[in-house]
Amino acid sequence: MGRGFRIVVLIKQVPDIEKVKFDFEVGRIDRSSAPAETNPFDLHALEAAVRLKEKFGGLVTAISMGPKQAESSLREALARGADHAILLTDARFAGADTIATSRALAAAIKKLGEFDLILCGEKTVDGDTGQVGPEVAELLNVPHVAYVSEIREVAGDKIVVVSDMGDKYLCEVKLPALLTVTRELNAPRLPTLRDVLSARKKRIEIWDADALADYEDPNRFGINGSRTIVVKVVVPGTEKRKGIILRGGDAVEKLFNILEEGGFARP
Ligand SMILES: Cc1cc2nc3c(=O)[nH]c(=O)nc-3n(C[C@H](O)[C@H](O)[C@H](O)COP(=O)(O)OP(=O)(O)OC[C@H]3O[C@@H](n4cnc5c(N)ncnc54)[C@H](O)[C@@H]3O)c2cc1C
Repeated sequence: MGRGFRIVVLIKQVPDIEKVKFDFEVGRIDRSSAPAETNPFDLHALEAAVRLKEKFGGLVTAISMGPKQAESSLREALARGADHAILLTDARFAGADTIATSRALAAAIKKLGEFDLILCGEKTVDGDTGQVGPEVAELLNVPHVAYVSEIREVAGDKIVVVSDMGDKYLCEVKLPALLTVTRELNAPRLPTLRDVLSARKKRIEIWDADALADYEDPNRFGINGSRTIVVKVVVPGTEKRKGIILRGGDAVEKLFNILEEGGFARP
């Protein structure tokens, strides 16, 4: 890898999940109801990318699909060590379900050209599906490992990682590949004031649906390309705890009887 690592990090801007409200009429999150932040998992993906670049040399490109204000997350990515940032923004990307989102991201990566590694968060804190990473890998026809909690080594054209799915699995994959990462992977660095100021001067490229037309049919982006339809949104009901209060001198005897009825042996 003489030219160093070419790494793409996918970064989503999400609403502050503590404050956001839901629009039950249209079945979507009302993004205007809360301030935006970078999906926390994506900061771990970015940190991993920057560490690999520092070790092996190379270039980190951050890509986000979203409205114009998602630029601030890309600006943050530049301050935290990304070299290059691209915002996919266009009314034709709006209303995308996960596959339409993944199509736009995969098309942008194809347009970028050669890459060795794509890093994503394991999921977002708003949509929370964990589908975009594996879908992008599938669309680009590269292998992926999800829930990566450790990057052990890069040897030639292979990367060795630990995938934590409750049980831990040691996986070796051939590059180019895609990894989705957990919070355990690293502790993202805080940018210095100088990093923040120099990121302000960097250019963020803006690509619309037409810019990706050589790589994907623009009719397959956004709401037109989405197969998912939100039929109804409901808040799951809370079930009250069922309890019995036993009183009186024979409370213990009553308890044993109940337990026996439930199939438990009397001690
Ligand atoms: C019918 C329908 C309509 C929708 N309309 C809208 C809409 O109008 N506006 C809207 O914002 N959302 C909309 N959504 C939600 C949208 O589909 C998801 O936000 C998006 O596909 C990402 O899914 P997720 O949040 O579950 O990501 P996950 O799959 O959980 O994300 C995993 C990782 O993928 C990467 N990633 C995910 N999304 C992006 C992105 N946009 N840019 C860069 N990297 C990313 C990140 O690295 C992230 O950590 C709609 C969903 C449905 C079903």
